[in-house]
Amino acid sequence: MSAIDATHDTALQSWVASANDPASDFPLQNLPYGRFRRAGSDEAWRIGVAIGDQVLDLRWASARSTWSDAARDALVPLAQGDLNAFMARSHADRSAVRAALSQALREGSEQTSSLRSCLVAQSQAEMGMPCSVGDYTDFYTGIHHATAVGKLFRPDQPLLPNYKWVPIGYHGRSSSLRASGHRFPRPLGQFKTEAAEPQFGPCRRLDYELEVGALIGSGNELGEPIAIAQAEDHLFGLVLLNDWSARDVQAWEYQPLGPFLAKNFATTLSPWVVTMDALAPFRVPFARPAGDPKPLPYLDSASNREQGAIDITLEVWLQTAAMRARAEPAVRLMQSNFRDAYWTLAQLVAHHTSNGCNLQSGDLFGSGTQSGPDVGQGGSLLELTHGGKQPIMLPDGETRTFLEDGDTVTLRGFCERAGQRRIGFGDCAATVIAARGMSSTL
Ligand code: MN
Repeated sequence: MSAIDATHDTALQSWVASANDPASDFPLQNLPYGRFRRAGSDEAWRIGVAIGDQVLDLRWASARSTWSDAARDALVPLAQGDLNAFMARSHADRSAVRAALSQALREGSEQTSSLRSCLVAQSQAEMGMPCSVGDYTDFYTGIHHATAVGKLFRPDQPLLPNYKWVPIGYHGRSSSLRASGHRFPRPLGQFKTEAAEPQFGPCRRLDYELEVGALIGSGNELGEPIAIAQAEDHLFGLVLLNDWSARDVQAWEYQPLGPFLAKNFATTLSPWVVTMDALAPFRVPFARPAGDPKPLPYLDSASNREQGAIDITLEVWLQTAAMRARAEPAVRLMQSNFRDAYWTLAQLVAHHTSNGCNLQSGDLFGSGTQSGPDVGQGGSLLELTHGGKQPIMLPDGETRTFLEDGDTVTLRGFCERAGQRRIGFGDCAATVIAARGMSSTL
């Protein structure tokens, strides 16, 4: 598991001045990876590191500056624009690059002059998917979400009997994953209303889901499970993930095989991958309420109990088309914390591979919707509006049960802890536009 080291020192300052702003998501202690090119250009995509409001272009940086032997070799895939190949490297290689970047970007570094010309302003960068995602699995680790949604469908038995024993998940679809900043049309689908026969048309109950995404670094051979003790070594880093959901389609189609077209029309990721190394100061104990079953031995370890969870504050923000027209900023709808998840990422890796299933570099796990324990902490509109029955009121007087055309939903996440530098994930945003074939002024 990643440990706290010199790269987390809160005293470290960068010669990139914007990184020293206490409100920046990307101080020197973070150093997340992303894939970018200059907006409006047809340049090849490159891998960069976010620092303050800038991106350090790693293709230029590897060529124009002097690096230690250990870092130079591990920088090769990054310079070539291949994050997957870097993710598959050993933890020692990845940590060597983090240490080298921390040295290179800190105040007084000898590399300052050689690297200054390798910066691109984030405001001038177009972000792509950070890596190639082969397979995508969405889990259901938010017990408060599972309970709230279960209550809507089964008031007498909200949680199914397997929930506290087996991490529930389904295989999602990677082709419709997109990096933050895109727009997508409201999906068409089949759903059932009060009428005798189902209908086909634009989704009427479009929703978001506030999730954390985990990207796999090195995979495993088919038939060779990853034990929970080794599971953390296979995690590269985390992003924010919005699992857009068509609730009316979902309600009609989900039995007996689970989510299908209600979930695979779009999924949005934040473009910067915050590494497990960067998250080391924010690990917290994993514990269950007294009286709950203990995880079976293959899902349990001392390390997982001691620091298997991660303290990440998560938020959902909404800006409607009317708000945008008046240049009003987004409003926050809720806040929750990833530490409340019922299963840890190590348990998800161990469980996913326990039958011999092989993971590959760049595979993505969704955490499931992260709702908090209290009223108003629902990570989806389905929860905040009690199944669409109680609209929420926005400050400008507009109301929402589900999303309307023109709505922009932004997920945010950050880690704060006494004695540690705050780090963040950047925005995970996308905008809903009118269904195909429907008129729109957007
Ligand atoms: Mn989901």
